Amino acid sequence: MHQFGRFFLPGPTDIRPEILAAQAGPPLPHRGAAFETLFASLQPGLRHVFGTTRPVYVSTSSATGLMEAAVRCAKPGPVLSLVNGAFAERFADIARACDRDVTVLEARWGDTVPLEQVEQALRTRAYAAVTVVHSETSTGALTSLAEFGALCRTHGALSLVDSVTGAAGAAMHTDAWQLDFVFTGSQKALAMPAGLAFGVASERYLATAHEAAGRGRYFDVLEFEQYVHKHQTPNTPAISLLYAAAAQLAHIVHETIDVRVARHAAMADATHAWVRSTREALDLPMCIQARDGERSPTVTCIALPTHVAGDAVVRAVADRGFVIGGGYGKLKATHIRIGHMGDHTVEGLHACLEAVRDALATIAH
Ligand SMILES: *Cc1c(COP(=O)(O)O)cnc(C)c1O
Repeated sequence: MHQFGRFFLPGPTDIRPEILAAQAGPPLPHRGAAFETLFASLQPGLRHVFGTTRPVYVSTSSATGLMEAAVRCAKPGPVLSLVNGAFAERFADIARACDRDVTVLEARWGDTVPLEQVEQALRTRAYAAVTVVHSETSTGALTSLAEFGALCRTHGALSLVDSVTGAAGAAMHTDAWQLDFVFTGSQKALAMPAGLAFGVASERYLATAHEAAGRGRYFDVLEFEQYVHKHQTPNTPAISLLYAAAAQLAHIVHETIDVRVARHAAMADATHAWVRSTREALDLPMCIQARDGERSPTVTCIALPTHVAGDAVVRAVADRGFVIGGGYGKLKATHIRIGHMGDHTVEGLHACLEAVRDALATIAH
């Protein structure tokens, strides 16, 4: 039996044994009543997580599939991409790979792109869509979305939001924030097995999607929309994963999203406090990559002292029985990342952080 509480990667994240076990449900015809009941049972939980009254699509793919869907099915025209880390860069790359004319607004890895810069860019050109990463998993920066959707709407652009390490850990109000396409993956803050992605499109997004000629088929949002109303998926879904999703979403509804978000904030606070106290206790110049006030509640990226290699820390922590993440992309050698998301608790996290401190004490001195 899997022992929960030692796996602190910023994705995939740890999965409780009962959720792993839930995957063992029986095969079902995906055009039958039993499947439709199962599919429909996911909707209240998914809508709760996304903060929407719209139906939520279930894609048998990793989250990158819906990154592509978001771009491919957006109305024709140029795309503005906010790039402040590796996943934001991937979003821009996907838009280019889908033949979009992409303009990039860059910020230092760890920062977020200021809303004023977005506004300025939107004034100078008519963009079809703007891509943004809510919680940038490579740097631990959280972009505030409260005014982002409305700003895009004012300028006639669709807002496309990667909330892969946001939703289910950070507050997400798809409808209230007027966001046009928001998606996440099963293996991040939702703490389910990998292999599903979930997304929601606004009416506004759907109204122009038919104009996008290169929608393809597997990731055609209009197909997802058509089937979701029948409580079905366009193609054969990963049924075992849907069983796990049903069990985990029931758990999340029971916890409530507000309590879940507060628990994540508490885990992030504990991690930040740990960085401060460890810096002092070990006299090590390490710091949090993202700025105070712009930090993700689900992942903390820590810049190590120059004489400490990220992979050595990850290995030493593994020797102590815990899994944490190394740096990602261009921060690979110089940073570590701690994923404090999903079903972890502050108490469980403390055990991991103690192991990291012990590893750092051994390596750095
Ligand atoms: C993990 C992640 C992705 C990619 O998800 P996959 O499920 O691996 O395709 C995209 N964006 C962010 C912010 C992520 O953390």
